[in-house]
Amino acid sequence: MAQPANDDPWSSSVTVLSRFGVEVQGTFDYEKFRALCAQLFDADEVEQHEWRAREVFELFDADADGALNDQELHRCCNWIHATINPVNVLIVVDVQNDFIDGTLALRKCGYGQEGLEVLKPINRLLKDGRWDKVIYSQDWHPENHISFFDNLAMREFHPESKITKEIAKPFDTVVFLQPHLTQILWPRHCVMNTWGAELHKDLLILPSSERIYKGQHPEKETYSAFEKDTDGSSELNKILSAAGATHLYVCGIAYDVCVKQTCLDGLWYGYRLAVIDDCCRGVKPDDITATKKLITENGGLVTCSDHVLSLVNEGKHSLVMAHHAAKIIMS
Ligand SMILES: [Zn+2]
Repeated sequence: MAQPANDDPWSSSVTVLSRFGVEVQGTFDYEKFRALCAQLFDADEVEQHEWRAREVFELFDADADGALNDQELHRCCNWIHATINPVNVLIVVDVQNDFIDGTLALRKCGYGQEGLEVLKPINRLLKDGRWDKVIYSQDWHPENHISFFDNLAMREFHPESKITKEIAKPFDTVVFLQPHLTQILWPRHCVMNTWGAELHKDLLILPSSERIYKGQHPEKETYSAFEKDTDGSSELNKILSAAGATHLYVCGIAYDVCVKQTCLDGLWYGYRLAVIDDCCRGVKPDDITATKKLITENGGLVTCSDHVLSLVNEGKHSLVMAHHAAKIIMS
């Protein structure tokens, strides 16, 4: 993450705080911090989530004496610096033909979700947002992928699988013997280099964007765009680190599967992250509700595209996202 140019803790703190007209001399207590938060974030958000401002202050106040000393203030100012100098990345998850009109079209899953509905709001974000980087992920499977229902004959089931091979049907959860893997059986989908795996023709593709292809190993299921290589590193994380990314905005399909896992991994890696609710569609409404709860519990922001555009275009900041960053800095 970007750091203030000046490494001297005191003078770099003064540089950051002077932008907000905050008096650096004297005790830097919670009242001063709260006043700073009211400038940094939306006043309503600070009002509504005051406990977060309090918790962030307590995180930085490592010696718990009710005031930030020079060292504590320096850490706090690094946090403020990253808050007001974001590197914003939009991650568009799996807006592919098979999830919209193909073999795994959300509308065929029977829970009332329609994948086509993400196109208009995502295109608006792509067109109107001032993004430092845009990344599209694609599910990209070989023909013999372990997740395909019609590949069942290729692998043995583990004795602990509650569902036997004879009665298994699409969308059941089974356990394979080798590799020992609990797996949902999906209809064949997103086979690499086929129409089903292509991004939808109406999705805007920005020229300078990047692609992440996931699920290419036949024996491995990967819902997250942060899929790990054999050495444990993630290609997406490498791209984000190289770009100095601080803030991730995630949207796409399926909300309760690949969007969910991408968000949880992004938060785990320590990014400030928001999921864009109106730009996602999923399989089951109950699972979508649970997904939003889980993302919130893990420090993410669940919000809408209008709010996202105000954050990335108008220099507004989210206390929820900044709260997660403070926890990561101080962990
Ligand atoms: Zn897949």
